[in-house]
Formats: sequence, structure tokens, C-alpha cells
Amino acid sequence: MGAPAAKQNDRVNGVCQAHLMPGPTGQQPAGPQVFSAPVTYSVATSVEVEGEKAVKALASFGLNDQTHIGLTDPFGLPPTQRGIVTTGSSTVFVEGQPMASSSSRCVMCFGSPATLAATGASVLVG
Ligand SMILES: [Zn+2]
Repeated sequence: MGAPAAKQNDRVNGVCQAHLMPGPTGQQPAGPQVFSAPVTYSVATSVEVEGEKAVKALASFGLNDQTHIGLTDPFGLPPTQRGIVTTGSSTVFVEGQPMASSSSRCVMCFGSPATLAATGASVLVG
């Protein structure tokens, strides 16, 4: 058995808990912020999964496209709100990087844990 492979535009999903926003006495916690980023950067150029570029752990990432409003911390702007795939297969490699799947771990913004919604169900990665 394996886990479905990840392909371009599969999403890194999670809920950020550590953002800050302006408050009456300075910065205050902004509360939970929904995070979802399609993985589109640093994907494979020579390997495809179901016709889409494969996702490489420790390389591929996406930018949050959910609205985080009014944040004042270092991750308050969309270009810095990254979802990064941090683990992949120990036996299957894509262009020298571990192949990502639904069992890959991810981090977002401050490094909080997130999940990878891998949809390449016809390609199972061990
Ligand atoms: Zn965030």
C-alpha cells in the first residue's frame, strides 16, 4: 500500500494560530486563520502525476490564497504565507527530492503543522 501522490495545485491546508493583529495596547493574537495554498512553486519539471507536475518534498511550496486580514506579524502578507512540503517518500524520489503524497507533512506561515491534500489517487507512493 501507499499514499496518493501529490501533484501541482494540490493544497496545503491548515489553521494558523499564531498570527498577530493591532489591539488597544499593541499587538494581540489574531485568532485562528484558515490557510490553504495550492502547491505551484518548485514542482517537478520532468515528472508528472496524472498529467500534472509532481510535488517534491523539501522543495515545492504554495502561497496561501485564503484571506488573512489586518495582520501585523512577519507573515501578514500573502507572499510570506507559505505552505511548504517538508516530508516525502523515503524510497521514491523526483528529481532528487522525496516524492510528496497525502502522508507528507507540511508547515505553514510560522512553521505550524499542516496537511497535504494529495489527489493523485492513481499513483500510490510508498
Ligand atoms: Zn498564517
